[in-house]
Amino acid sequence: MTAITSNLQVVNHAITQAAYMAQRRKESIELLAVSKGFSAVAVREACQAGQRAFGESYIQEALDKIELLRDLPLQWHFIGPVQSNKTRAIATHFAWVHSIDRLKIAERLSAQRPASLPPLNVCIQVNVSGEDSKSGIAPGGLVELAQAVASLPQLELRGLMAIPAPAEGMEAQRIPFLKLHELMQQINTQGLALDTLSMGMSHDFSAAILEGATIVRIGTAIFGERNYGGNQ
Ligand SMILES: *Cc1c(COP(=O)(O)O)cnc(C)c1O
Repeated sequence: MTAITSNLQVVNHAITQAAYMAQRRKESIELLAVSKGFSAVAVREACQAGQRAFGESYIQEALDKIELLRDLPLQWHFIGPVQSNKTRAIATHFAWVHSIDRLKIAERLSAQRPASLPPLNVCIQVNVSGEDSKSGIAPGGLVELAQAVASLPQLELRGLMAIPAPAEGMEAQRIPFLKLHELMQQINTQGLALDTLSMGMSHDFSAAILEGATIVRIGTAIFGERNYGGNQ
């Protein structure tokens, strides 16, 4: 068994454990394998082990892999910062975008989504830790942005995403995830029906599952350490 295959087993087992602790069905939590910084060969290996959904943060790197892996039944999620000159490529080649934090970007993605494809699933990225350096919209502007994004024809607003500041220990890790969950509930009282909480990475996904994560984005625990730090 390859390292990626056994890592996937360990991660899936840990997701099952956390779901049990949270008294949730395992099927309510989707594993997004974050393959940024790893090769198409590594993704192929993960696919052979049963993994289908993959997350990428850098558009050129992603497009190269998507092209090399066209023969596989994969679902691609864009999770990095979206620059406006990259929206057409993203709207064309991805099923999901997790990192919407401005209306202008959402409008471009909607306008550029090919009519032959189903609407692009999107999440709004929220800055739940209040650090200036992190991307994501501040909670204060969230309801307004959500209403506007939800009205765009070629987008399906599915939920919220966050990358909280790193914290040690389950109790501290749970706080920003609870906050994101509460923000989604608040939006849903305004007439929207969001069903997705994209939260939790290799070091904190169990805490995220306890607070209701429906997609956990896991890279290092599956593929190993990257040579670069990702989009943070
Ligand atoms: C890189 C990245 C991840 C995966 O992080 P790991 O710590 O390697 O699990 C998840 N989400 C986003 C947005 C990322 O950029």
